[in-house]
Amino acid sequence: MGETEDERASQAGQLFENFVQATTCKGTLQAFSILCRQLELNPSDHRGFYSSLKAAVTYWKAQGLWAKLDKRASHKEYNKGKACTETRCLIIGGGPCGFRAAIELALLGAKVVVIEKRDTFSRNNVLHLWPYTIHDLRNLGAKKFYGKFCAGSIDHISIRQLQLMLLKIALIVGVEVHVNVEFVKLLEPPEDQGTDGPGWRTEIRPADHLISDYDFDVIIGADGRRSTLDGFKRKEFRGKLAIAITANFVNRNTTAEAKVEEISGVAFIFNQKFFLELREETGIDLENIVYYRDNTHYFVMTAKKQSLLDKGVIINDYIETERLLSNDNVNQEALLSYAREAADFGTNYQLPSLDYAINHYGQPDVAMFDFTCMYASENAALLREKNGHQVLVALVGDSLLEPFWPMGTGCARGFLAAFDTVWMVKSWAQGLKGPLDLLSERESIYRLLPQTTAENISKNFEQYTIDPATRYPNLNSSCVRPHQVRHLYINGEQD
Ligand code: FAD
Repeated sequence: MGETEDERASQAGQLFENFVQATTCKGTLQAFSILCRQLELNPSDHRGFYSSLKAAVTYWKAQGLWAKLDKRASHKEYNKGKACTETRCLIIGGGPCGFRAAIELALLGAKVVVIEKRDTFSRNNVLHLWPYTIHDLRNLGAKKFYGKFCAGSIDHISIRQLQLMLLKIALIVGVEVHVNVEFVKLLEPPEDQGTDGPGWRTEIRPADHLISDYDFDVIIGADGRRSTLDGFKRKEFRGKLAIAITANFVNRNTTAEAKVEEISGVAFIFNQKFFLELREETGIDLENIVYYRDNTHYFVMTAKKQSLLDKGVIINDYIETERLLSNDNVNQEALLSYAREAADFGTNYQLPSLDYAINHYGQPDVAMFDFTCMYASENAALLREKNGHQVLVALVGDSLLEPFWPMGTGCARGFLAAFDTVWMVKSWAQGLKGPLDLLSERESIYRLLPQTTAENISKNFEQYTIDPATRYPNLNSSCVRPHQVRHLYINGEQD
């Protein structure tokens, strides 16, 4: 009898370990489904799932993870997972910010579904993490999923590693994740059936996917900079022409590679001597450059147009940026050489070999983007009401506020916005505020986001919760007045 139990525990441990160690999105979902089947766990029981999993998987390594997640789940804001038990949430997009919001909503006890249009996590590009983000991820057990997470002074992670660990944590806390499902639009509840009929649903691709029959109370757009949700006007910040190049080279993890110094963007922007020497020696003219050693050797740089023309990367000079950077105006071979040469100079020729890593399309991982224009949504949330049903709609991450890549603000501000949004969902689910008070509070907090830096947010990371007061020292939750957000309460009946 005892032996059988031991065997069972060891099998559960092995199945869980396979899940924790999975290195791809598909592999993770497959290992999760085998784990649930073999241990007879029901992943659609979102409220009971985490405790059933915990009871079934008891080996030492998992215990460490449970201790961390239990600590997080004990925040008073979650009310022991009973704060939002009746709330059904859809998150559009399985990027870092979508998953981060999903985890918080699940801890509040909500039913959470994430849809992601792809089934691979293939972005080698590396995100800079602010100290609070590292703290946050460590507290969610990041190191259990990715042993190398922020070792030593390292403060960055590849986008795909981050997505992978957050996917795993989301599954553990009972989030339902569907890949290869693309959001198309929100569908209004039908007119004739009132509150008993279907509520707010979604048009998705593939159209016959089971999610199309789900009703939702909350929709969160976390689908990146090209967000598809209606009702959010976008503000455009147009700077002078800025052309970014990202490049990823294979990291063979040799001692020689490990010795090469990283280049933090913030420090380098002001180093004029370096850029002058670079230009003199190579003809490459940059405004800034960042180098992070992660799964790959990752470089991001802002290049001046004239040097791209001089080096034959851009073939013809056009005024319209879209035409300037269109595929047929870019010499790919010259771009590969340009980025490699800049990387070589930037690292003082210390990297033994600069072989390009391969991207999602099977091509050398180099890309050139225009970020002359950066977008921000004018508002962070809105409330729609139609035929007796309400839906709270919000944006997080790049959909809400596009980051300035070289400064690496994407994930840090993205997570802050995810917490703020979840805070709003909690107030709404608990009926604590009327629509205009709710929306004006959210917009007031959103005003702080573009001004946040690693230095001006609260330093007491251990106290951070979804409550904005724990994170923003100068919080004013009522600077936007309720009458200023009337247009965000869209009441179909009144229309
Ligand atoms: P994203 O990471 O963009 O995730 C959005 C997710 O939504 C994606 O997985 C996408 O497949 C999915 N999606 C989109 N539309 C739909 C839909 N209709 N239905 C379902 N799913 C959908 N930041 C840096 O700091 N440095 C960089 O070098 C850098 N490079 C980048 C390169 C690329 C190609 C991209 C897209 C972004 C880059 N960023 C970079 C930005 C950085 O990735 C984000 O700030 C960070 O990932 C947080 O973003 P997010 O979760 O809001 O959105």
